[in-house]
Amino acid sequence: MVQATAETIYGKHDGTITGLTDGMEWKRSDGASWASVTEDGNLTNLEPGSYGIRYAAKANHDASPVTSVTIAAGRKLTVSLPSNQDGYTLTTTDTELPWHGRAALSISINAGYFTTSDYAIKINGKKVEPSANGTIRIDSAETDVVVTVEGVKKHEADGSGWHHDADSHWLICNCGEKLDEASHELEWKTTVEATASSEGDRQQVCKVCGATGTSEKTPMLAPSIVEGAGQKLTVGSIGDLTVRSNAPFDLFKQVRVDGTELDASSYTVAGGSTVVTLKASFLATLSTGEHTLDVVSETGTATTTFTIAEKKPETGGTGSGSMGTTDSKPAEPANKPKADKPELPATGDTNSAALAAGIATAGVALIAAAALVRRH
Ligand SMILES: [Zn+2]
Ligand SMILES: [Zn+2]
Repeated sequence: MVQATAETIYGKHDGTITGLTDGMEWKRSDGASWASVTEDGNLTNLEPGSYGIRYAAKANHDASPVTSVTIAAGRKLTVSLPSNQDGYTLTTTDTELPWHGRAALSISINAGYFTTSDYAIKINGKKVEPSANGTIRIDSAETDVVVTVEGVKKHEADGSGWHHDADSHWLICNCGEKLDEASHELEWKTTVEATASSEGDRQQVCKVCGATGTSEKTPMLAPSIVEGAGQKLTVGSIGDLTVRSNAPFDLFKQVRVDGTELDASSYTVAGGSTVVTLKASFLATLSTGEHTLDVVSETGTATTTFTIAEKKPETGGTGSGSMGTTDSKPAEPANKPKADKPELPATGDTNSAALAAGIATAGVALIAAAALVRRH
């Protein structure tokens, strides 16, 4: 049984024809002369192509008719490059090679990348050294060629975060160099909020790397009246008036009413935070109406108002004022806008109490009365 096997690799010329017998002869179809088959009956190392086989002529017979046998060509060897070339460019002159074929590879490192100490170009797992211009030659290939590249890295931060000294910060590149070095971008951050009774703290912090710079105190906030604001006193029953500023006691400076500093005999002041009590004897000297009260400390002024109201008139009375105005005159509407707030004249100098008699509350009565008085 005659059998043909193809060439294994293109160009290797290792096709075979077996199963021949003594007395046969063969030639390539395009060959000129017939050759005798050797004793083992095998033809080896054949190029691809068509071959003729026949029984040779002998004394008693002619040569037999020719049988044609074909040796197929072998496959070519392949040259495979990495499909994902990250940071380098590798090319080859040929991607298919015949047996003992040759190719030239060329590699270059892309901009922004570098080779580490592990840099290697490997052919079928074995490291090869490129020439000075980056060329690698493949000579006399006998297997498929698989090229791999290791140790090409990008110039980028190595993931260890920001590093810094007193003035600047930087990242560290994969190659060991500093990256993105720049001066700190300091901004103040409050670490302790100031209050009206205590200083705060703030510190400079770099908004890029978090490095901390200098720290310093921040001033206390301006004080305010935290107890006793907006009190109302009524003539005839005026007692002491106490307010509390949240400024520290040791920063107290003075008390002012309607902008005028009070003599120390008009009030007392005590700690916790700053408790000021206006004496009734002083309050009795004030006119009716609204007054401003300032408790002045070194950190600022806590301000409020208090009101001294006329004594409420007798129910159904015909007016206690000296002017003798009757309550037949209607009161102004209580919600009349307060475009400005006139000071009331001193007690006893007005008919306002009588005019306001029909209005329920003392506070509203005062507002309405003030408006009326102003028009007279
Ligand atoms: Zn680098
Ligand atoms: Zn910084």
